[in-house]
Amino acid sequence: MIKYAFPPHDPVSLAISGTKTRFPVRRIYCIGKNYADHVKEMGGDVARSEPIFFTKAAETLVASGEDIPFPPNTSDLHYEVELVVAIGPHLKIFGYGVGIDLTRRDLQSAAKKKGGPWARAKNFNRSAPCSAITPADRFDPSKGKIVMRKNGDLVQSACLSHMIWGVDEIIERLRGDMDLQPGDLIYTGTPAGVGPVRVGDELSGGVEGLERITVRFI
Ligand code: MN
Repeated sequence: MIKYAFPPHDPVSLAISGTKTRFPVRRIYCIGKNYADHVKEMGGDVARSEPIFFTKAAETLVASGEDIPFPPNTSDLHYEVELVVAIGPHLKIFGYGVGIDLTRRDLQSAAKKKGGPWARAKNFNRSAPCSAITPADRFDPSKGKIVMRKNGDLVQSACLSHMIWGVDEIIERLRGDMDLQPGDLIYTGTPAGVGPVRVGDELSGGVEGLERITVRFI
């Protein structure tokens, strides 16, 4: 038996829709620049857009219904609603969820200007809210709409079919670069309409056929 110097952290997990069994999370991968209209709103060049991958720690997950203390060191926290793919055994897609890729946009802009890494802009406490996972056989990611509501107002709305890199292509590219394993989550990028969040705001992201992700900032 392994003897640890102090108790190891409990595994991070997400609810699975329709069951008490939980989805054990290993890593979180995220793709940037995956909807042309969002690339344009960020001032990027759609023609030269290649997928950008980055990661968040599993411990940054937040379940639906939880309150999020406003994060430190930012005055421009942004929401990005995203379809989340949950990887199961044998590299099969286990299911899908709706996630929010919270971003400290001011830190990201500063990092971009310096040509430095974005880690602090993306990977911070409670930066990855995610809904319960819906099993893959109950959802088709090639159609349907993804939306974000802020305090009830529609702020993001797009067709999932508008993703530049589809789910299978994203998995194929990640596999060529990383070691995808059961428990990995992939945030598949956000459409246009990203914007700021303040204390007191409620965000609610949805995709037809999936559980919603709803969080409030305190
Ligand atoms: Mn994103």
